[in-house]
Amino acid sequence: MTGRFPASADAAAGAAPSEPAGEVAAGRADLVLRGGAVLVMDAAATRAEAVAVVGGRIAAVGSSDEIDRWIGPATRVVDLAGRAVLPGINDSHLHGSWLGARWPHTFFGAADPAAAAQVAGTLVRTREERRAAILRAGRLLASSGITSYTEPGIGPGEDDGETGCFHSEVLDVYRELAASGELLQRVTLLSLYGILDGPSDLSVVRAGISSHAADAGEPGASDPAWLRVPGVKIFGDLIPLSRQAWTDRSYDDGTHGDLLVRGDTIERRAADLAEMVRAAHLAGLQVGVHATGDRTIGLVLDAIADAEAEPGAQRARDLGHVIIHGDLATPAQVRRMAELGVWLNAQAGIAAQTEEWLAGLMGADVAAEAWPFAEALAAGVLVLSSDAPVLDFDWRRGVADADARIVAGVGGGAGAREGGVGDHIAEALAAARARLHGLLRAYTAVPAAQDRAGDWKGTIEVGKVADLAVLSADPFEVGAARLPEVDVDLTVLDGRIVFERTA
Ligand SMILES: [Zn+2]
Repeated sequence: MTGRFPASADAAAGAAPSEPAGEVAAGRADLVLRGGAVLVMDAAATRAEAVAVVGGRIAAVGSSDEIDRWIGPATRVVDLAGRAVLPGINDSHLHGSWLGARWPHTFFGAADPAAAAQVAGTLVRTREERRAAILRAGRLLASSGITSYTEPGIGPGEDDGETGCFHSEVLDVYRELAASGELLQRVTLLSLYGILDGPSDLSVVRAGISSHAADAGEPGASDPAWLRVPGVKIFGDLIPLSRQAWTDRSYDDGTHGDLLVRGDTIERRAADLAEMVRAAHLAGLQVGVHATGDRTIGLVLDAIADAEAEPGAQRARDLGHVIIHGDLATPAQVRRMAELGVWLNAQAGIAAQTEEWLAGLMGADVAAEAWPFAEALAAGVLVLSSDAPVLDFDWRRGVADADARIVAGVGGGAGAREGGVGDHIAEALAAARARLHGLLRAYTAVPAAQDRAGDWKGTIEVGKVADLAVLSADPFEVGAARLPEVDVDLTVLDGRIVFERTA
């Protein structure tokens, strides 16, 4: 990758420099990271060597020589010694309170599967326990370079839920932690008016959507830089592995799955799910729909398209709706997501760990076509996340798994081309780098867009918040497959160092 340095950091950010850069800069930085690979994660794959932070914001990005002007007596200087800096990682679908209550017991890939299987029943009961779980998750995630996440599904639907982790009080605790400045990540939270992984009633969800929309401007709402509640989580269907993704394909027992909506007939359930999506869209809310089957995904995309076509309705693109999981999404549906501006939020580890299982239930062809990461990446709609504690929150493993799946899908169909062996190697290397860039963006810049916060976070550009992760090596030198071996050395949140690796 060739370096592409902006002529000046101010020019890169589009801001008009009002004073000579040297005088503005002199000695003013709170924090400078220099002498490494600063991976901006903009679409152009800009690389720099150093970054200066003032008051929680990125003040300058450039060569080490340029940035050294910002160093003064009060500046903390981190010598990168060739290490890399990424924007802080954004795990855009992660259950923070549940993770904090369960860790290290994940559902897939657990270090101790027997112990993980033992975890059952209520995990948190009191406000104090909920607070402790969120803070614990925050520390774990900070140690992984994660500075933002989406907590997908907290609310009254789960006030009697088994684990206690999705109870309405969890939102109160998040608000409290946002107000006291104790959050170690910026949190986007989706309200849940139905129940988690269970059937919901249209009337209940619709009432929840109305109350949510009415509350949006409530006094005492949190600082949106730290906690936003922009919309709702809706369960469309369950998962293919339990034969409950609603699909045009067939499971091994001849069934096609179902929707997770109450109603006597499939037509009723389908109409009610569409109405939930419509109501949320027309209320101006972002909707994250748990949708794994192709029929469910198609229904949700139709509902979104219909809603935005109504007079006076906002564009789907401006609300940032999300298909969550999308296991059986077809290539045509992925293209439609791109047309509508709907994100596909997927977990590469689920594909890596369950493809064989899915092949047993639906056939090897279906399993090979499932989880269309290559299509989604090419279409610009792919957002990667961990769904922790379903998987662990290792985004490096997520990048490696997504890359492996894309590479496996490419197969040998590239065909013969002009040019020598050297050209082919160069081409393959360039493709691998472009893929890695895209997958790293799917954990940084793209989820910032999912959060509708792409103008102030997600890349290392002047004026954006200083949320950064320092890695022990440059991912582009290591490659996607070996990225899990790279350490997170330092995590910076809002200009503050919130994690520093000691060993
Ligand atoms: Zn989830």
